[in-house]
Amino acid sequence: MEKRNLFSLIPKVDEILKEPLMTRLLDKLPRVIVVDSIREEIQLLREDIKNDFITEKNIDKRIEKLPSLIEKRANKKNRFKLRKVINGTGVVIHTNLGRSPIDEEIMKNVFEISSNYSNLEFDLESGKRGSRYSHLEKILSDITGAEAAMVVNNNAAAVMLVLSTLAKEKEVIVSRGELIEIGGSFRVPEVMEQSGAILVDVGTTNKTHIWDYEKAINEETGVFLKVHTSNYRILGFTSSVSIEELYELKNKYNIPLVEDLGSGVLIDLSKYGLEYEPTVQDSIKKGVDIVTFSGDKLLGGPQAGIIVGKREYIDEMKKNPLTRAIRVDKFTISALEATLKLYLDEEGMKKKVPTINMLTLSQEELENKANILKEKLKCNININDKNIDIEIVDDYSEVGGGSLPLEKLPTKCICISLKDLSVSKFEKSLRNFKTPIITRVYKDKIYIDMRTIKESDFDTIVEGVLETLNEVKGVL
Ligand SMILES: *Cc1c(COP(=O)(O)O)cnc(C)c1O
Repeated sequence: MEKRNLFSLIPKVDEILKEPLMTRLLDKLPRVIVVDSIREEIQLLREDIKNDFITEKNIDKRIEKLPSLIEKRANKKNRFKLRKVINGTGVVIHTNLGRSPIDEEIMKNVFEISSNYSNLEFDLESGKRGSRYSHLEKILSDITGAEAAMVVNNNAAAVMLVLSTLAKEKEVIVSRGELIEIGGSFRVPEVMEQSGAILVDVGTTNKTHIWDYEKAINEETGVFLKVHTSNYRILGFTSSVSIEELYELKNKYNIPLVEDLGSGVLIDLSKYGLEYEPTVQDSIKKGVDIVTFSGDKLLGGPQAGIIVGKREYIDEMKKNPLTRAIRVDKFTISALEATLKLYLDEEGMKKKVPTINMLTLSQEELENKANILKEKLKCNININDKNIDIEIVDDYSEVGGGSLPLEKLPTKCICISLKDLSVSKFEKSLRNFKTPIITRVYKDKIYIDMRTIKESDFDTIVEGVLETLNEVKGVL
């Protein structure tokens, strides 16, 4: 048969739409998605005919398969762009994977607030207009020991607001060793510039002394800024100036001391075997005037920038017009309030704040998880399948989010070794599973870290590994 005639066998869009499978699909999905999928599958078929992949011999079979191919394509097209993924990387605060997950119980509060009206800016006492910043102030003060608090969109915005309020067109003295870049495009010097403050870096990359700060002081000095170096450490011949020293200097010259703590941990992590990380409470106790930190790093809450410290400064910030541009919404306020409430009881918090829970899992808990998943996988994969081997191995997880960069957390991983199959194809196929499974590839093996995986996702992982195995073998 001539190609021309093969083309004429392709059904028309209207005909395909009458197929029973399409009618059912139209009940479920928007028409435009179904029609687009039909057009795309027809186009693929035309190209396959043009390229001689489809001939008289196999065209009937392909046409028969069209509805199911269209269904698959339409379902894929209908998926959300922003989707749940399974984080098998072991990086707990994974900025590319959405940083801190939030517990369902906290989301109940967010649902209640966002699906109803709320007193977001309404004072129930007086019946008059209220402030959205009032809801979190007391609990943040109670937890951190600060006089006042407010919350903005994220920590980058918090730093910008603080400097714009306290040091616009003034000089900000900061150590050269603290001029950091934190992923994406957050560079301390650039944020400072946007705020209208003038950067004065003192000291050298590895050493800064208190006299470096003192020498730089003049009438234009607006703020001393200390920045947590978060994602890197300089080791060896180094020294930086402590908060205690800066506190003395700030009092002598009456210049506010601001600290960008980055992660902003609220509990003593060393109790759980992690490196001691100075807490927000430490900074407030030591007399820092304003501390800023993120809501979705070690705190384990929603994306937010938290500012705590002296009331006189925070009151000024609330009046800064920039605040309006970076203000938090009711989702953030309700999620953060529910997260902070958990901090009033540390034991309960450890269970219910997923980030803290994952960081404090014991070896025994990790090993149990690994055993359960391994058994589930072994039960479902043909034991005679020589292409795949699954074992439990020791490895290390990372805190992530630029927090505790040197901390290596011993963990247990499910390690998948393949024979005669492509590891990179396997990894990619897991990543493209309907619930994407993000894994780590190291020395031609695939690792799934138990620390960042929920037990409720085990069945999905088994399904994903099975589908991937068949796909990479070419069975699907
Ligand atoms: C992460 C980090 C920031 C940025 O915080 P976001 O909440 O992501 O805006 C700023 N400063 C430091 C020191 C950080 O570690």
